[in-house]
Amino acid sequence: MTSSPVSVVPVEAPKEEPLELSLLAEVEKNQPWICPASAKSIRTVNPIRAIVDPIVANMKTGEERGDGKDLISLALGDPTVAGNLPPCPVALTAVETALQSQGHAAGYVNACGVPAAREAIARFHNAKSADAVVIANGCSGALELALTALLDPGTVLLVPSPGFPLYQVIAESHGASVVHYRLLPDQNWECDLRHMEELLGLYGPHRVRGILVNNPCNPTGAVFSRAHLEQLVAFAERHRLPIVADEVYGDLTFQEHPFHPMACVASGKVPVITASGLAKQFLVPGWRVGWIVFHDNVQGSLREVEAGAKRLAQVVLGASHLVQMVVPKILDSNNQELRQWKADLKLTLEEQAKFLSLKLKDCPGLEVKEPQGAMYFILRIHVSKFGPAIQSDLDFSSLLLQEENVFVLPGIAFGVPGFFRVVFCGPATVLEQATKRIQCFCERHFQAS
Ligand SMILES: *Cc1c(COP(=O)(O)O)cnc(C)c1O
Repeated sequence: MTSSPVSVVPVEAPKEEPLELSLLAEVEKNQPWICPASAKSIRTVNPIRAIVDPIVANMKTGEERGDGKDLISLALGDPTVAGNLPPCPVALTAVETALQSQGHAAGYVNACGVPAAREAIARFHNAKSADAVVIANGCSGALELALTALLDPGTVLLVPSPGFPLYQVIAESHGASVVHYRLLPDQNWECDLRHMEELLGLYGPHRVRGILVNNPCNPTGAVFSRAHLEQLVAFAERHRLPIVADEVYGDLTFQEHPFHPMACVASGKVPVITASGLAKQFLVPGWRVGWIVFHDNVQGSLREVEAGAKRLAQVVLGASHLVQMVVPKILDSNNQELRQWKADLKLTLEEQAKFLSLKLKDCPGLEVKEPQGAMYFILRIHVSKFGPAIQSDLDFSSLLLQEENVFVLPGIAFGVPGFFRVVFCGPATVLEQATKRIQCFCERHFQAS
C-alpha cells in the first residue's frame, strides 16, 4: 500500500536581506514583544465584567470600613458559597463509589459521554434514546455546543432580555449576533410575542437561526405556564425556528408553579435542543457536568445540527469521566432519599425567596414581584423617588455597597436598567441582615414627593 502523498507548500530559499529590512529588525528589537490575540478571543467578551469589576474593586471588610459591617453578597449565582446548601449527598456517595470502581473512572470516554450517563439523561428528559444526548462541561459547555452547531457569522439568535449574558458571549465569539426580545415585567416576565414577531420581520427568517428560551428564568425567577410555552411553540412552528431551551434550573420551582419542559410542550411539532446540567439542581456547580438533548420534530429538522454538535464534541471530549459516573445515580427518579432531598431543597428555597421578597416589599422605592422558582429575582427601583445620588440601578448598587456593604447586581448587567437582582440562596440570618441594611438604605435615600 502506498501512503497518500502529503502536500507540502514549497518554501522559497531566503534571499539576501536588504539593508533597510535588517535596520527595521534592529529597531523592532527595541519595541516590546507583543503577540497579537486572535480575532475570536477579542470578540469573546462577557459584558457583566465591565459592569461588575469596578464595583467589586471597592469591596472592603467591616474592619477595613471601621463600621463592622461585613460584606453580604446577594450577587453571586453560586448556591454553595454560604454553606447552608450543601451538595446533594447522593452525588457525594456516588462519586466515592466511582473512585473505588475498577479503573477508577480514569480512562477517556466517548466524546458524547459514557453510555450509562447518556441513558440516564435520556430517561430523565423523556428523549428518544441515549444517542440524542451529548454530555458537556457544565450547562455552559452544553450551550456553547448547541449554539456553535447552530450559528454562523452574520446569523442571529433571539435571546431574552433581561437574560443570562452567556448566550450573547457565545454568539458574538462566533461572529454571530443576538437580538433581544423583551420579557414583560408586568406579565409575569413572559416573552413579548408581539416584539418577537416584529424582530423576525426586521431580521428575516433566514438570518435568524433559533430562539433561546430560559425557563425557570435567571434573573427574573419566573416560571412559565404551560399555556405560555404553547404560545412559544406555536410561534416557533409558524416561523420554522428551533428552540434552544436553557432548563438548567429544571424543576427547582415553587409549589404553585410546576415546571413544564419545553420538549414536552413541543411534542414533536417544533425541534427543541434542551440544555441542562447538575450544577443548580443538585448544588454541584463546580463539578461541571451539563448536557444537551436533541428532541427533534417529526421531520427530523435537527439531523444536521445534531451531527454537527457531535463533531464539535470531539474537540473537548466531554466532562470528567469521574463525575459522569454519578449521573445515573443522581438522575434516578426511583431513589427515595433523592426525592426527599429535592423536596426539602425546593421548600427551603421557597421559604427563603418568600422571606426575602416579603422584607424587600417593605422598602420604600422598590417594587417586588414574587419569584416562582430558580434562585433569583429582580426588583424594580423607582429611581425618580430617590435622591440625586441615585439616578440609575448602577448608582443604587454601587452606593448600597459603599454605605451598607451589601452587594447586588444592577439590572444593566442583564439588560434591564432600573432593576437589580438578588440571590436567595443564603441562610435566613444572612438574608435578614441584608434586608435590614437595604431597608435602612432605601429609607435614607427615599424622597417622598
Ligand atoms: C448557571 C447557569 C448556567 C450555567 O450552568 P453551568 O452548568 O454552571 O455551566 C446556564 N444558564 C443559566 C440560566 C444559568 O443560570
